[in-house]
Amino acid sequence: MAFEGKVAIVTGGGSGIGEATSKELAGLGVKVVVADIKLEAAQRVVGEIESAGGVAAAFQADTAVAEDSRKAVEFAVATYGKLNYAFNNAGIGGASAPVGEMALDAWDTVVGINLNGVAYGLRYQIPAILEAGAEEGAIVNMASIHGAVAALGNAAYTATKHAVVGVTKNAAAEYGPAGLRINAVGPGYIDTPLLAGAPAEIKEGLVAKHPLGRLGRPEEIAKVVRFLLSDDASFVTGAYYLIDGGYTTV
Ligand code: NAD
Repeated sequence: MAFEGKVAIVTGGGSGIGEATSKELAGLGVKVVVADIKLEAAQRVVGEIESAGGVAAAFQADTAVAEDSRKAVEFAVATYGKLNYAFNNAGIGGASAPVGEMALDAWDTVVGINLNGVAYGLRYQIPAILEAGAEEGAIVNMASIHGAVAALGNAAYTATKHAVVGVTKNAAAEYGPAGLRINAVGPGYIDTPLLAGAPAEIKEGLVAKHPLGRLGRPEEIAKVVRFLLSDDASFVTGAYYLIDGGYTTV
């Protein structure tokens, strides 16, 4: 299964890991719908892909809104004729508080984006990808190391990332017989705008939790997503792929 001429949706493609993955796929000849709640961010990434000779289109979508997820799929099919790949990547960190003190509207917001957003994406992407031929496609969902271990002070993040691993297993089991592979990735802390607001001492503390002694780079996640979407991963489905510099080993 060559990447050339295939069509992908990357949610949260306007920044960080989604941006790096959009560029990685476009560099392989994939036509990429860069979907983001921030249209200008998606447009900037599309401009950079086009300048590098790739093909991409920006689409404004809030993944927490099911209708937006449906429209993103329709846009991909209308623009490029089909859908082969999806990277359900959009997510937020959310407010920090212990469980007994957390703001419930903040809980709902994180669940809406980090979990419902992935589920809504799958709901509309899977039929379109099957339509184009299951073995011509694949899906990767964004979890985190916090799909396996707690993010202290952020139960909503921990819960939603664990749930992404769960929905990935269900989808993989349900669509494996049709030949469609669906996996999740679990990055450690990655140096993206998501962490930009964190104070230096917090960042240093995070670095210390990775045996490799540094934060990850968005491109290091993009390369594993590329692998999971590719034929090289032809017997990999339902997996939760840690890319964490050893964070979860200790
Ligand atoms: P980022 O903030 O750099 O990029 C996230 C992008 O998603 C932004 O462009 C933002 O506009 C978009 N977005 C936010 N809410 C959206 C919504 N409702 N609908 C559509 N787009 C939306 O963040 P990042 O670090 O690249 O994170 C991407 C994903 O990776 C998230 O799911 C995050 O939880 C996960 N992750 C990040 C890290 C990390 O340390 N940075 C580690 C593990 C997992």
